[in-house]
Amino acid sequence: MVKGIKYSIFLEANQYPCPMFKKIFYLSGLCFFAAIFALSAQNNQSELPTPESFFGFKPGADRELFNYQPLIDYMKILAEKSDRIDIKEIGISPLGKTMYAVFLSSPANIKNLHRLQEINKTLALDDQMSIEEQEKLVKEGRVFVMGALSMHSGEVAPTQASPLIAYDLATTSDPEKLQWLNDVVYMMVPSQNPDGMDMVVDHYKKYKGTKYEGSSMPGVYHKYVGHDNNRDFVTLTQSDNLAVARLYNQSWFPQVMVEKHQMGSTGPRYFVPPMHDPIAENIDEQIWSWTRIFGSNMAKDMSALGQAGVSQQYMFDDYWLGSTETAIWKNVIGMLTEAASVKYATPVYIEKSELSVGGKGLGEYKKSINMPLPWEGGWWRLGDIVDYELSSTFSILKTASKHHADILKFRNDLCKKQVETGKTQAPYYFVMHRKQNDEGELIGIINLLNEHGVAVYKTDKDVLLGSKMISEGDYVVPLAQPFRAFIKEVMEKQKFPERHYTPGGEMIRPYDITSWSLPLHRGVESFEVNEESVELHNSLSKIDFPLAQPESIPESANSVVFPATRNESFKAVFQAMQKDIKVYRAENPATSNGTDLNPGDFIVQLTAKNRDEMNTIVKGLSVSPNYEEKSMPDGLKELSLPKIALVETNFHDMDAGWTRYILDTYSIPFTVLKPDEIVKSKLSSFDVILFPSNQKDVLLSGKRKRSDQTYSVPDYDPKYVKGMDKEGLEKLFSFINEGGVVLSWEQSTGLFMGTQTIEIDKDTKEEFSLPVSDITSSLVKQSLSVPGSLLRIKLVKDHALTYGMPESIGVFSQGSPVFSTSVPNFDMDRRVIASYPEDNILLSGYAENEEALAEKTAMVWLKKGKGQLVMYGFNPQFRASTSVAYKLLFNGLFL
Ligand SMILES: [Zn+2]
Repeated sequence: MVKGIKYSIFLEANQYPCPMFKKIFYLSGLCFFAAIFALSAQNNQSELPTPESFFGFKPGADRELFNYQPLIDYMKILAEKSDRIDIKEIGISPLGKTMYAVFLSSPANIKNLHRLQEINKTLALDDQMSIEEQEKLVKEGRVFVMGALSMHSGEVAPTQASPLIAYDLATTSDPEKLQWLNDVVYMMVPSQNPDGMDMVVDHYKKYKGTKYEGSSMPGVYHKYVGHDNNRDFVTLTQSDNLAVARLYNQSWFPQVMVEKHQMGSTGPRYFVPPMHDPIAENIDEQIWSWTRIFGSNMAKDMSALGQAGVSQQYMFDDYWLGSTETAIWKNVIGMLTEAASVKYATPVYIEKSELSVGGKGLGEYKKSINMPLPWEGGWWRLGDIVDYELSSTFSILKTASKHHADILKFRNDLCKKQVETGKTQAPYYFVMHRKQNDEGELIGIINLLNEHGVAVYKTDKDVLLGSKMISEGDYVVPLAQPFRAFIKEVMEKQKFPERHYTPGGEMIRPYDITSWSLPLHRGVESFEVNEESVELHNSLSKIDFPLAQPESIPESANSVVFPATRNESFKAVFQAMQKDIKVYRAENPATSNGTDLNPGDFIVQLTAKNRDEMNTIVKGLSVSPNYEEKSMPDGLKELSLPKIALVETNFHDMDAGWTRYILDTYSIPFTVLKPDEIVKSKLSSFDVILFPSNQKDVLLSGKRKRSDQTYSVPDYDPKYVKGMDKEGLEKLFSFINEGGVVLSWEQSTGLFMGTQTIEIDKDTKEEFSLPVSDITSSLVKQSLSVPGSLLRIKLVKDHALTYGMPESIGVFSQGSPVFSTSVPNFDMDRRVIASYPEDNILLSGYAENEEALAEKTAMVWLKKGKGQLVMYGFNPQFRASTSVAYKLLFNGLFL
């Protein structure tokens, strides 16, 4: 019934000609069609529509881009008509688009996918396999190469190349390629960020033919996090990332993985492995050897085709976890490629004199071992990148085919090696006590480890190990697991490997951040066990997932107490307030009727009317709240739902995006305010305004200031290049003066420094400076440098901002700002809420001369008039990965 369809029908309207067809297609999934077409599609490869006939242009053509749905439609048609292709749903994007993996291989392998998947899993996880069994599975198995394309949606080429790759492999009669398809299954995620893909393509089409063709897209190309999406693969907060990570954590266990990216326009044309130093120390050495083989074969195969400008061992290090989505910590031969960009689909002309390199592997743009065939400049087009994508992908398949038996054997050998190392080398276990300051975060870590394919256990009795007591019910993560490298990486604190270009010379700087320790970032106490213990081993029982949720509220309860120590208490409280349920907060520990409350605890009086709704709220938590049978004590503060604004700029504002994500996750309602809307808006309709990290000049003028104090003109349609201006800033201070609350962190605190003015009346302006200044520049002169690390702070007690917080935590800092307060004038005041300790400041990651921070102020509360301002010298919600500090932000919403 489908054979006779004219493919052009799919082009515009994205309508299936027969509604029934569409219905069956979606309802029964692809297996149904795979079965029907496996019979009918034999040897029908010649009937497949070419990408050009389907899309109306050859992908890669100048100034042409296709959207997500046509891409998927095309892949589905290929899957229906070709016995070399299958397509499977893998998850849902944050904006609700279905995501897919496309499987390309020989007809026999495609028919046999289920069995091949089982083999992958066994090779990946069975550390007890006999040599005979391993030989058998290596013979029967196929190498799965996973390709993750264009997660950074502005980097359009890998996805645009995907129909050409699929069509080529589906129709080829080249005996060499047929051999690859025999040995290898190419498992392609054709678009790893479908939401962002449509945003970028729509933006490009909107401006095509205008003077702003190829301009940057305002906003983030994702529901929330934009370019930070590959910084999310430890925490797995975004549903598109989760779908992709499950392919190697849970379901398909590919042996090889490649992430496809693009870089700037004026450097090398292409980057292939090996990566640059430093490398992550927990990774098995053979992973690097394998990526070097794949990378060198790409460089060789691509230059044989005359593709100039391929570079290796340049710029991109393999220390942090974003570049291969943590796959290399799970025994996958994982790698990255990067192509030089054009303006989305608009060609660029590069003068030879404009070509340059950024160091780290290439000191000059010259013929050298890391770039033996430099590109000489000229026109660079989307079609060029697409050609490079085809040849690099084919080279990877060729290498995987050539070494298929070795790769499959390596996967199982490495599994055995990791388990054996876990049994014979410390640390043997990580232990997390059942009792924690925030038990919800403990449950969060355990669920996350399970999502990553890590087994977690519980002890069924008390075990004394040296001076450490491990109590019944504590959680234990043994290191003797196939994903040992990952467990160790995320459970220990980070120590950046300091490597130098020359002995004693300049250090190789980190590419990105340097800390991601789950226990430290989430405020969960954990410790390593560095001795083998049979007693502990024998006390472990495996946890079943999903973990049990809280039970219904007991009949005898008169009120529900949500402890101030738990982040998820705020979620419950915001949900309750939005259902018009009254919520109270304890400000003092002592209560009139002896009820046991801590400062900051939330209390809801149960009534016949709200009991059902409160039950629903409680069941949505990961830990049961506390219940009280006594009647409600006096002296509690009734809360009202704060009206919150969040300031987000047009300039790929990822920190604001992450903040939106966190607010949504905790059911906290908010309104997004663009900086230029501050002048026009009635700020008094808000109680709290949040300023995520952003440069002062971007907030004020929409332009970034360079180090020489000149402005760089942004690459956006000028209608988006706007800031709040002086007028907006004055209005903001009037908002504070009249009782508003502003929470500002990291760079945006710069807005509030120095002399400010507010209008008192028509003829009078008041000038003042808040009693705070940023002293970072003087510390940088003392060589302070923090690339993105966890630093220890001490918190004051007895302040509404620190309710529920321990005395000391680690906060995510990039070295600035650091504050100094002063004695206030007029109607102003200040309190230091957090400061750095005298020593042991660095908790995890890397820092230079962090001693300069000793005893300096990290967080300050300020008062002006009737209002309040909180300045955080760190990101309290960094990439949704520092939940240890969330309460410092959430408490600010109730000031
Ligand atoms: Zn990228």
